[in-house]
Amino acid sequence: MSKDEVFTQLERFRDNDMQTHGGKVWAYVYDSGLREVEEVAATAYTKYMNENALDFTVFPSLLQMENDIVAIVAEMFAPQSGDAESVLPIRPSGTFTSGGTESILLAVKAARDWARATKPDITLPEVILPVTAHAAFHKAAHYFGLKPVVVPVNAETFRVDADVVCEHLTDNTVMLVGSAVNYSHGVTDPVHELGAIALEYKLWLHVDACIGGFLMHYLRDVGELIPDFDFRVPGVSSLSVDLHKYAYAAKGASVVLYRDAQLRQYEMFASTRWAGYPMINTTIQSTKSGGPLAACWAVMHYLGEDGYRTLAKKTLHTRERLQSGLAKLPELRVLGMPEAGLIAFTSDTVDVFALADEMKRRDWFVQVQPGRPATDNLPGLVPTLHLTVTGASEKIVEPFLADLEGAIESLKRDPVDGGGRGGRPSQPSTTPTVVEQLATVNPETLTPEVLTQLLRGLGLAPGQLPGDMADINRLLRVLPPDLMERLFIAITSEMYTPRPWSSEAAGGHTS
Ligand SMILES: *Cc1c(COP(=O)(O)O)cnc(C)c1O
Repeated sequence: MSKDEVFTQLERFRDNDMQTHGGKVWAYVYDSGLREVEEVAATAYTKYMNENALDFTVFPSLLQMENDIVAIVAEMFAPQSGDAESVLPIRPSGTFTSGGTESILLAVKAARDWARATKPDITLPEVILPVTAHAAFHKAAHYFGLKPVVVPVNAETFRVDADVVCEHLTDNTVMLVGSAVNYSHGVTDPVHELGAIALEYKLWLHVDACIGGFLMHYLRDVGELIPDFDFRVPGVSSLSVDLHKYAYAAKGASVVLYRDAQLRQYEMFASTRWAGYPMINTTIQSTKSGGPLAACWAVMHYLGEDGYRTLAKKTLHTRERLQSGLAKLPELRVLGMPEAGLIAFTSDTVDVFALADEMKRRDWFVQVQPGRPATDNLPGLVPTLHLTVTGASEKIVEPFLADLEGAIESLKRDPVDGGGRGGRPSQPSTTPTVVEQLATVNPETLTPEVLTQLLRGLGLAPGQLPGDMADINRLLRVLPPDLMERLFIAITSEMYTPRPWSSEAAGGHTS
């Protein structure tokens, strides 16, 4: 293909994507609303995309940029001078990673290896996870052989209660997790109390500030009352903060910080046991593009402290405008007291799954959090819709609220239109046989044939994107997680099936 054809086709691939700019997608993308920020990121990214952080002796530029970024972030969350602990070290130590998940994987791996070194009697280490802790901790526990002990959060505040954490401590507990803020409800766990438990029982406490940390640092900088959530709190061992969220860096940018370089040692990996070069890695990746790092460095220095303060104030005011707009809609109810840039809301009268589909028809992506059914040891969580407020959200508050009101009205007018929209919030509307079938399936013995049959029953054709998601979301309210996880993997596996693309079939090739 010619260069022109390639780029024409690349644009065409995007035809069915939602817009990454302008704030209409209330998840996954972070738009500062400032076009130049993106230009700066793009230029810096391409300048360094071929440099490889695998070897800092060959590319010292990357070492320098990473040390600078980590120094800036460490300074933001360091113990304050005057704090009892602030004599040494001056700054926490850290690593630039590809995202929140990698930061969390590394922190959990470090905690596990720290426990192996300091508590050698423990063979099955346990990590206590509030149900609001990000799924990345479950992934980390799964990858690294820790047992996740999931504990409930307060039903009003959505913060974990320190007493509940204490009740779940065992001789095998090695790690505690708190969020600042949690993704699902946008509120901060009681980090001071968790820190006290960690110190008393010599546990590793990780604070997940992936989405809240950067924004809340600047909110406290402009005078908002933000309780300490970082290394100012005694007992915090590590902290993750994503820069591809509220620092508006290009994707692939996060930092994991450790209270000191001693703790960080447990994150690293070195091997000289093979025939090739000595491999020494700070992250899970080995070959690591300099693109995200350079883009992040560029955006941080371009926006600077003033830029981030302005964006933080803007984000806070926009969130407050949204909250008061939502409060005027009697069908909706915001959960907890949002502290950063996130809002979770639900409804007692309208089906929120159908509402999300209605909003999609109006060209808005509102993220569904299906909640979870109650089990023996955990109370259920109601389904919610989730908004991520960014710099670009400022201009769309009114049209969004108007469409939300319109969508609610149309669901109330037309509560059950065959697709089962509106109506009773937690009832699946797929044919009863599918739900019955699913409820009797033993996830352990699920064969590919049965899975395929179930997927057909859900109206999913091989390789085709599902349209309305309400039915699938409703299933999540009634079926056990191990079955749903198997189903999702089967659906995803069908989606990621090799299918050669041909320009003729796409109708784009003229030569
Ligand atoms: C986004 C997020 C993560 C995971 O980060 P990725 O960058 O998506 O890998 C973890 N924790 C919280 C609180 C988050 O918001």
